[in-house]
Amino acid sequence: MDLGLKGRWALVCAASKGLGKGCAKALAAEGVNVVITARGAEGLEATAAELRALAAAVQVKAVAGDITTPEGRAAALTACPQVDILVNNAGGPPPGDFRDWSREDWVKAVDANMLTPIELIKATVDGMAERGFGRIVNITSGAVKAPIDVLGLSNGARSGLTGFVAGVARQRRLAACNVTINNLLPGVFDTDRIRTTTRAQAQRAGKPEAELIAMRLATVPAGRLGTPDEFGAMCAFLCSAHASYVTGQNILMDGGAYPGTF
Ligand code: NAD
Repeated sequence: MDLGLKGRWALVCAASKGLGKGCAKALAAEGVNVVITARGAEGLEATAAELRALAAAVQVKAVAGDITTPEGRAAALTACPQVDILVNNAGGPPPGDFRDWSREDWVKAVDANMLTPIELIKATVDGMAERGFGRIVNITSGAVKAPIDVLGLSNGARSGLTGFVAGVARQRRLAACNVTINNLLPGVFDTDRIRTTTRAQAQRAGKPEAELIAMRLATVPAGRLGTPDEFGAMCAFLCSAHASYVTGQNILMDGGAYPGTF
């Protein structure tokens, strides 16, 4: 299926690896020019080179910087001639017990996982509406739908974003101008983040890493971790010309882990 995206420009945040990279790869493969960001220049340049090799016809720009800062966002936006597609992403907050979290911890989580995407939506959405095409995909988490106790910072901050998106996506001045805003909710995906957190949990529990992964997979009917490529394919479809009638939705990709009917 041709997704009808050739020649568009996408800003994909936090994309040197993991889910963001999966989205950038899928979009580039569809002929979308991409601006990718991440904090570390080295990893980011390596990913940019990979994308150029994958899709020789597309332009790939790498902008190193922290997307949760005004300077990082300004640099990313300046590098993108026009943002037709925005994929919002940033690192997730650390796990823990809410009794240990300070106001500063909360502000950091809300800044990264709620206010940063809102600022980027604010900077891009009206231009999208004027041009009659826009796609925004926010990478959130399955924890928005089924909260995970130790991820309270994530549950809280991302739920704030989800509520905001539910309202703004339904503004007629956006939806009627072919601008869609959706959230993509990952369950457990095979990325560095999952490997690092599993390793730390295994060390704390004094158990082999494989046992911890097996315990996690016991709750996933698909019996495996998701892959960044699968995640990227779903993101690219949501950005496609065919998905203009899908907006304000929370799309869960979790291998069937969420046990509800809806
Ligand atoms: P990852 O660690 O594999 O990759 C994170 C990427 O974000 C890297 O490219 C990193 O450089 C970049 N990054 C982090 N903070 C940044 C910042 N402030 N500015 C710019 N770039 C930044 O992580 P991932 O597994 O791909 O996770 C992506 C998001 O999805 C995170 O918010 C994570 O909490 C969430 N999530 C992931 C899973 C999963 O199973 N992997 C599940 C639920 C939610």
